[in-house]
Amino acid sequence: MIAMRLHHLGAVTSSRDPLSLDTIPVPEPDAGEILIKVHCCGVCRTELDEIEGRTPPAELPMTPGHQVIGRVQKVGANVDPKIVGQRVGAAWIHSACGDCSWCTSGLENLCPEFQACGRDAHGGYAEYMCIRAEFAHPVPPVLRDTDAAPLLCAGAVGLRALKLCRLVDGETLAFTGFGASAHLVLQMARHWFPSTRILVFARNPVERDFALKLGAVWSGDTEETPPLTPSAIIDTTPAWKPVLAGMERLAPGGRMVINAIRKESDDQNLLQGLDYTRHLWKEKLLRTVANVTRADVRETLELASRVTLTPEVSVYPLEQANQALIELKAGKIRGAKVLTIGQR
Ligand SMILES: [Zn+2]
Ligand SMILES: [Zn+2]
Repeated sequence: MIAMRLHHLGAVTSSRDPLSLDTIPVPEPDAGEILIKVHCCGVCRTELDEIEGRTPPAELPMTPGHQVIGRVQKVGANVDPKIVGQRVGAAWIHSACGDCSWCTSGLENLCPEFQACGRDAHGGYAEYMCIRAEFAHPVPPVLRDTDAAPLLCAGAVGLRALKLCRLVDGETLAFTGFGASAHLVLQMARHWFPSTRILVFARNPVERDFALKLGAVWSGDTEETPPLTPSAIIDTTPAWKPVLAGMERLAPGGRMVINAIRKESDDQNLLQGLDYTRHLWKEKLLRTVANVTRADVRETLELASRVTLTPEVSVYPLEQANQALIELKAGKIRGAKVLTIGQR
């Protein structure tokens, strides 16, 4: 089979292809695993973090990809063979221990033995991949492959971030950054919180226009002052500056959720710039979202099958994964990028 694999960590730039097109054997599912024939795989900012070493793969070469839609081709021992042929999605979690206090309370995203697709185990930038059967998610028939893929991470992590905001209908919600995740969460927020007004801070005028089209009442640059004070902010940028600016802007009792597995700068910039009175005083809350649980992924897919939750998708063939990653890094984003495998 063919796979786009990471052999060496390094900066993603237009002068270096981060991944190599390799021909390798189709993997065999271990006990408890399934083999998926991949139809398509979403491209996520976390892949930049893997390639550039902020959350490096457990081994090299590694096949990235954790927003995978495909069909079950084969099952390993101890897996019901009836699921062969079923269309499934594979998201960020490849496996977790199943026994710890987090796993047994539905928080497998916090399991100490958590393994991630495309980082700790080979992911979906390939014709086939294996995953633990209990971490494969049935995909509602109404969703097209390329629309379902970005829901698995961009959509589902966004849904988790929105829940962690503890938003009350009528409160103002803001996004900093407006890429693959934010454009989906905005649609979820409009569905669940019809009286909530939404603000979007984004550098790129294309993203700002897109936000208004999807129903934001205001969009502007990070430096601009919006007409409303947000009670909740979801930060989807790779930078620290919007986090500080957002904390300063929050209403008393406001909540900010950082929706990123890693920031592009992992140093202490945030702490150096954080001022108690300006940024935290008045019971403001700053928290992170640690990826997704199975329940988040399934709820996102189910929601998308009932209400309009349409990802804006740019499609690339698998062999052009490098181009998709380079464009993602350069900020040429409107919506989500998806790699297709074969002619579908
Ligand atoms: Zn992701
Ligand atoms: Zn566990």
